[in-house]
Amino acid sequence: MKQEEIVAGIDLGGTFTKFGLVNRFGELIAFKAIPTDKKLHYELFLKKVAGEIEQMIQSEGNLYSLSCISIGAPTGSQFEGTIDSPSNLNWPKKLPVADILKNLFNLPAVVVNDANAAAVGEMLFGVARGKKNFMVVTLGTGLGCGVVIDGKLLLGRNGHAGELGHVRAIESGRLCGCGRYGCLETYASATGIVRTVLEMEPMKKSDSLLSCYDAGTLSAKIITKAALSGDKVAIEAFDFTGKILGAALSDAVALLNPELIILTGGLAKSGDLILQPTNHYLKKNLLNIYHDTVEVKLSEISTKNTAILGLAATAWLHLEELNRVTV
Ligand SMILES: [Zn+2]
Repeated sequence: MKQEEIVAGIDLGGTFTKFGLVNRFGELIAFKAIPTDKKLHYELFLKKVAGEIEQMIQSEGNLYSLSCISIGAPTGSQFEGTIDSPSNLNWPKKLPVADILKNLFNLPAVVVNDANAAAVGEMLFGVARGKKNFMVVTLGTGLGCGVVIDGKLLLGRNGHAGELGHVRAIESGRLCGCGRYGCLETYASATGIVRTVLEMEPMKKSDSLLSCYDAGTLSAKIITKAALSGDKVAIEAFDFTGKILGAALSDAVALLNPELIILTGGLAKSGDLILQPTNHYLKKNLLNIYHDTVEVKLSEISTKNTAILGLAATAWLHLEELNRVTV
């Protein structure tokens, strides 16, 4: 029997490393997560992950043959095949992970940053199928953005194009993790909406379900629940988030002219609560020539699988670049 070709995606996180096997149709065949062993030398850790992947393929009963490996991290550089060590990992800067994986598997390997992987995932397996000009905005702890223009992932000089999360939304605004003030992600993200509620005047919150939470206990999930039950403070927080995000996206549209903007990540799980105000304020701020040319949609890929499917899509695209498959 002919084995089905598959690719593997490895999502290297500060706490957990997740990996999965995906076929040409975007079906997740197997998935596993292990703690990221920060004490282990990074080469040994990657060897451990490679061993787990080999084992996963074997336990599927020899039905599959692995063709490519893709590894992602927020600091992944597709050009250099390296990952800049995340600050919470005690590993050196610029890990040459593509070369290490190539040697371990004797197969092509590619590195990608996670927002770009999400964009490629939407292009191959999600709501951007058949689209050539779109952007994916991930609203998680921060705000990530991947841009596809004329059917190609926008990379820029060193692969860092599309850092929309660090575009200034408010002059002298909130302090960002990057050290600057007023970045979009300090407002439009799962942590941003929490900051919005915490910054509201206590008087305003006195009859809100959210008044009993503090920085340690409040989450985007709790704000979503409150908004769904009609809590005015929670609804106002979503409106404010959508106002800032919609305005920033209208600037992005002027720069990139996309036909579709896809929202994904933890905060996008709130559905219409974030989609409606974002759409409203986008339209309100949009230059005339772009009216009715762009729409905002929620991703249909489950948040749990976004990273692995995006990584797998990147691997399939890499194989196409090597003229091994047609996607
Ligand atoms: Zn920033």
